[in-house]
Amino acid sequence: MDTTVTHPIDNAAQGSDIGRLLHAISFAADKHRHQRRKDKDLTPYINHPIALAALLNAVGGITDVVVLQAAILHDTIEDTDTSYEELVAQFGRQVADVVMEVTDDKTLEKARRKAQQVEHAPHASREAALVKLADKICNLRDVATSPPDRWTLERRQEYFDWSRQVVDGLPLVSPALLAAFHEALAQRP
Ligand code: NDP
Ligand code: ZN
Repeated sequence: MDTTVTHPIDNAAQGSDIGRLLHAISFAADKHRHQRRKDKDLTPYINHPIALAALLNAVGGITDVVVLQAAILHDTIEDTDTSYEELVAQFGRQVADVVMEVTDDKTLEKARRKAQQVEHAPHASREAALVKLADKICNLRDVATSPPDRWTLERRQEYFDWSRQVVDGLPLVSPALLAAFHEALAQRP
């Protein structure tokens, strides 16, 4: 049962940016509650979206609550039962559209999905480019330090090379985050 989603009595909390951000964290934590990352410690999944938002703020200086909410929610449509309409109802169309922009089409096979990320990168909005960049930084850091269990060296290297192709295509939205990406890239195994 969703415990955090539509408690009408809580709606007053959404009158401020902090309230909106906390609502997104609460919603995403609920949606991802049974999921784990693929590392050997099976880290709770929600650590990853929170890491994106924290990085956007700490390194990118991002305080735009739409971007921070979208970072928190970025894997909800792709990896949980969350629909676009549900995000519109809970967070508004602007946030839902950014999440949609960074969501892969899961009806496509994986190689095609990865190729599409490279093709779509140059057309990303500023908001989606920020979230995508933070996602790639966090995932490269994870692959370098706590990779999915049983990934071969070659697979980890391929992941780095593909991430670089995606980020090379993104519009320049944050020199500081781009520098962090290149630092992460330098840890290629
Ligand atoms: P996956 O898409 O299966 O896994 C990577 C994704 O998992 C990340 O993008 C991240 O996505 C999420 N994730 C969860 N936990 C971690 C973690 N600890 N570290 C990093 N990422 C994590 O893998 P690939 O990107 O490699 O895509 C599969 C492709 O690889 C296919 O094209 C397939 O054909 C190919 N393949 C290659 C092999 C090889 O040896 N080279 C072997 C098998 C398949 P998110 O941010 O969304 O959570
Ligand atoms: Zn992600």
